[in-house]
Amino acid sequence: MSMYCDVAFNLPLSQVFTYACGDEIPEIGMRVEAPFRGRMLMGFVVGTRLPKPRGTFQIKSISKIVDSQPVFSIKLLALAEWTAFQYVCSVGEVLALMVPGGRREKDAEGSWLSYDSMEYEISSLSAEQETALADIRAESHSFHYVYGITGSGKTAVFLKYAKEIFEAGKGIIYLVPEIALTHQVLQAFKAEFGEKTVAEHIAILHSGLTPSVRLKEWMRVLRGDARLVIGVRSAVFAPVPDLGLVVIDEEHENTYKAGSTPRYHARQVAMHRVQEEGGKLLMGSATPSVEAWYAMQTGKLPSSRLHTRPAGGELPKVDIVSMQGETGAFSQELVEGISKTRGKGNQTILFLNRRGFAYSFRCNSCGFEYKCKRCSVSLTYHKQRNVLICHYCGLAARPVGTCPECGSLDAGYVGFGTEMIEEEITRLFPGYTIQRVDTDTVKKKKKLEELLRDFKEGKTDILLGTQMVAKGLNVKGVSLVGIVLADTSLMLPDFRAAERTFALIVQVGGRAGRYASGGRVLIQTFRPKHEAIVLAAQMKIDEFYEQEIAMRQELGFPPFTRLIRLVFRGKEKQQTFKASALFAEEFRKAMEDQNEPGAETLGPAECPIAIIANNHRYQIIFRGRNFAPLHNAVKSVLWNFKTPAGVYIEIDVDPVSLL
Ligand code: ADP
Ligand code: ZN
Ligand code: ZN
Repeated sequence: MSMYCDVAFNLPLSQVFTYACGDEIPEIGMRVEAPFRGRMLMGFVVGTRLPKPRGTFQIKSISKIVDSQPVFSIKLLALAEWTAFQYVCSVGEVLALMVPGGRREKDAEGSWLSYDSMEYEISSLSAEQETALADIRAESHSFHYVYGITGSGKTAVFLKYAKEIFEAGKGIIYLVPEIALTHQVLQAFKAEFGEKTVAEHIAILHSGLTPSVRLKEWMRVLRGDARLVIGVRSAVFAPVPDLGLVVIDEEHENTYKAGSTPRYHARQVAMHRVQEEGGKLLMGSATPSVEAWYAMQTGKLPSSRLHTRPAGGELPKVDIVSMQGETGAFSQELVEGISKTRGKGNQTILFLNRRGFAYSFRCNSCGFEYKCKRCSVSLTYHKQRNVLICHYCGLAARPVGTCPECGSLDAGYVGFGTEMIEEEITRLFPGYTIQRVDTDTVKKKKKLEELLRDFKEGKTDILLGTQMVAKGLNVKGVSLVGIVLADTSLMLPDFRAAERTFALIVQVGGRAGRYASGGRVLIQTFRPKHEAIVLAAQMKIDEFYEQEIAMRQELGFPPFTRLIRLVFRGKEKQQTFKASALFAEEFRKAMEDQNEPGAETLGPAECPIAIIANNHRYQIIFRGRNFAPLHNAVKSVLWNFKTPAGVYIEIDVDPVSLL
């Protein structure tokens, strides 16, 4: 009698498929190749069984067993099933993401860089840190949050607790928001656990590794050989057999939410994992997500506070500089600040969250704005490469001098990016050593290491950069941080815009005066009275959250509601819109049966970025106080929905961005 197995494919199909096995029978957790709709596909064995499934359909045979031993366990399969259920996708899609080599690696989750600037010589914890550690040990709740100012030694607390868990023989997953930070955490682990222990037990999992290296690391974890895992978002799925601890450092970071299917949030997956598998989830940040802050406030999430910097270093003095009426990118204050800083032999970090030279090309006569032909966003002018580039689809266009619409000469580039700022500071500060760090200048890991080493050794006077300089950079000589324009993320049509801007200012500001007094932060802005900016400048952290919470409550946004966002995209505008309208209609009908008064359907409406790469985009946002009815209704409509050919539906549960 022959055996049968159920195979899940990396396809958006809700079911699994049954195949006959040959003489060799694959185990659950192995990958196989099997014919599917005229092609050969790799799939994951999620079940095996003896009797032939009922039905008269013809059963095909698997062609090849890929693995000699399972690459995922039953426990992990259960996690994949939950993730698929929660984020409305197929088990195969989740397994393909989890298991290295399960799908073609698209882009890496971040840049392949490493900072090595943390001096880790901690002889003893401060009293505050000791209290936090005692809280963590004593707390019976599975989750704990360490809410402490930048530089308050959250990492040290995590590591001390991790060591206890490790010594008890259990496994640890330590998540950081960017690959760049894994190296730093690794150094910290070495200092705490000893080089030898770390060398034996560590596994570093991220998509910057080649698939085969990643699979090797993955198998070491699965077998229990490596039980210290450091990684970014996807490492939350690491197959640690006896999980004792998951750490989510910088919990507020958006990089913990996946931007493509399955659109999971590492925090939610970690919560589910520790509840199912045991162990503890530790989270930490100086600027928690609004959700986490609210959960702490209402007592649902136990937490500890850290108010002081054990390594010394005062919090910097922060000033807001209004740019209203300024014509250039630099205020007098910032120019003076930079030259004074150098005069004292110190260094400056300049932060601007926008690459390129100019933000867009505009005509003052007819109002024309040069946008991407394929996307509804402005093209960014890159001067050195002499090209206009779309930051969404990569389309390049030739720069223009006059308005392409009306021919007027009264047209030109407006707004500035890091490239222009570099030119500007080179002109303003002759003789200074200046380095720019963004994805245009730093394509290779080596290059960045070099730049950062120079900076750390004090060879660079001004380090200018995007997000890349915002995180984890702790350099002794830095006494001034200039935020060139705080407004870049503030005016986005997204209810999290204020939260994001606030966190960014506090985090970037935390880079100044880490080790000395007299640190200073200058925030340039066109909106000097905006609460996110004012409260960040005054370091009134809790006050910001209180205001933000009140606003969210009034407008009915998370954490007071849950959202599920659907984006319909397609080349045909009308067809795409119609599909979204029909879906919204069906959803309303489905909700009628659920007796859920507070639930709402917002849209369909054009997405704020209405077109990307020639695809028209419409969104529907489903909102409600209770998650289950929304979730159920979306699924029941989706599984019966006849999506027209050429239209694609992206499902985002608990979206962090609405663009
Ligand atoms: P956070 O994660 O809260 O921003 P870190 O854990 O990075 O803070 O610690 C900031 C700095 O303080 C680091 O350089 C670290 O080595 C140092 N540090 C942490 N705890 C102690 C301690 N108990 N004694 C001395 N220095 C400490
Ligand atoms: Zn014009
Ligand atoms: Zn484009």
